[in-house]
Amino acid sequence: MSNDPHLAERVAKAKKIIAAPANFKVCEGCDSIVAARVVTCPNCHGYRFDESPTRVVDQATHLASRPQQSVTAEDLS
Ligand SMILES: [Zn+2]
Repeated sequence: MSNDPHLAERVAKAKKIIAAPANFKVCEGCDSIVAARVVTCPNCHGYRFDESPTRVVDQATHLASRPQQSVTAEDLS
């Protein structure tokens, strides 16, 4: 494990998601994990989501184990 604080943050977030995948869904447009209640993706404004818990857990595991992939709003400014 590295000491990258951002990675630690993502791992913590991923653990929360994996513990309650029903509260999340994966955006089909940008692969972001978003809250199940959102209507459009905050990242890409897409409206197609994969709500299967398997996909959510898969994606969370993926995000926790790799360098940041998705472009966040902060990255664009
Ligand atoms: Zn998206």
